[in-house]
Amino acid sequence: MVAKVDVIVVGAGLAGLKAAQELEARGRSVIVIEARDRVGGRTMPGMIAGEVIDRGGQWVGPGQQLLLGEAARLGIETYAQYDKGNQVLHYDGTRRTYSGDTPKLPLLSLLELDRVVKRWNREAATLPMDAPWTALKALDWDAQTLESWILRNIRTKGARTFARLVTRAVFCAEPQQISYLFFLEYLRSGHGVEHLIGVKGGAQEAKFRGGAHSISRRLADSLKSPIVLEAPARAIAQTDEGVSVRTDKGTFEASHAIIAVPPALASRIHFDAPLPAKHDGLFQRMPMGSVIKVHVAYAEPFWRKAGLSGQAASDGHAFNVVFDQSPDDERVGILVGFIDGAHAIEMSAMGDNARRQHVIAALVDYFGPKAAEPIDYVDQDWTAEEWSRGCYVGHMAPGVMTLFGDQIREPVGRLHWAGTETATEWAGYMDGALQSGIRAAGEILIRR
Ligand SMILES: Cc1cc2nc3c(=O)[nH]c(=O)nc-3n(C[C@H](O)[C@H](O)[C@H](O)COP(=O)(O)OP(=O)(O)OC[C@H]3O[C@@H](n4cnc5c(N)ncnc54)[C@H](O)[C@@H]3O)c2cc1C
Repeated sequence: MVAKVDVIVVGAGLAGLKAAQELEARGRSVIVIEARDRVGGRTMPGMIAGEVIDRGGQWVGPGQQLLLGEAARLGIETYAQYDKGNQVLHYDGTRRTYSGDTPKLPLLSLLELDRVVKRWNREAATLPMDAPWTALKALDWDAQTLESWILRNIRTKGARTFARLVTRAVFCAEPQQISYLFFLEYLRSGHGVEHLIGVKGGAQEAKFRGGAHSISRRLADSLKSPIVLEAPARAIAQTDEGVSVRTDKGTFEASHAIIAVPPALASRIHFDAPLPAKHDGLFQRMPMGSVIKVHVAYAEPFWRKAGLSGQAASDGHAFNVVFDQSPDDERVGILVGFIDGAHAIEMSAMGDNARRQHVIAALVDYFGPKAAEPIDYVDQDWTAEEWSRGCYVGHMAPGVMTLFGDQIREPVGRLHWAGTETATEWAGYMDGALQSGIRAAGEILIRR
């Protein structure tokens, strides 16, 4: 029989670990239970060509104060994303290079794009921070997919292509899967579309020495509370007295629980009593995006000598967003990029070899024949991860935010919800995960 604690935290990602730390710091007894054999969840360590890499969450940008503060507290430094040289845009079957932030698209497309991005940011700014479902136009915006909005409001091919590329890159989902209201809320939470996709001054501005996963690792190491690994929560029961969580490593009891897992994973836990219909309805309707993160190593970062930044985007290849991930001293060259949305679902089924061939062919198109000679290759298929079932984040189709959205942070009796999907700022990001852990812990701390 395991002793009763104040709080059981389900999930040892950044959200769960931060919640545990907050509670522990205020004298509460805590136990963290985690399905995987490691902590960190959607942050995950890896190696390529002898270099440490992040197979999951990686970048940090200005405004992500919780994440920057946590890293600093744990003694983890940041360094700038390499951003010198020209970028590659592979558009409509043709390779173009350009400098600065403006993609090399036809002039009419660029003018329309500018207008569209301004409109998105303007509309996103009208959403109330804690309750986007109450916005004046919420019902209207939540009645359409982003794709139907694109078809109705964007005329030029270039601007349409860009809008779809951004959706895949930011949500790992197709524009027809996402509500326009949810899209706007994500832009609001992430400080606007330029910020979300940008390097300098944007969400890809910097990285963590030793990898972002080391924040999770060190946060876990700093806890006094036990973390039980390989203990997926299968069933959670609550009574007037407390909660019990049945796992593969036994049943744990506490006064309260924080469920710090994505809604799609929470929906796979058996709740007794069953969750209220509205809450369960939300969990049924927040599927994860689909992404495969790929690293390719070369003897040197040859693209830098050719005046290229290593950044590429494409509307044609499945491996469609790429960045430079080489170490500062260039002892090896590394490119990192993503296969996302529908491409990830298709390529997950194709297997490692086919994926690798596709990736290398795409890199040859972006950076020339030297890209055909990698020295190492690592990919991480998040769609196949049992305890994530996709990434980066859960999303909402039309009708979900206005009908079910107000449940996202609403406790159910003694059950409290954390995880980046529940954040009001930087939802979907590591910063949002930390915010959610602090908020959920606070809900319990003020109860007694
Ligand atoms: C490829 C990729 C790239 C990304 N890039 C960035 C980036 O550059 N910058 C950024 O800020 N963010 C990025 N993200 C997103 C970021 O990693 C996440 O937002 C963040 O890590 C989520 O933390 P979390 O604690 O909310 O959830 P998670 O990390 O998913 O933690 C949930 C934990 O719960 C566990 N769990 C699930 N079900 C159960 C169960 N039944 N019982 C017990 N445990 C369970 C899981 O194993 C997991 O450890 C990226 C994510 C991916 C996958």
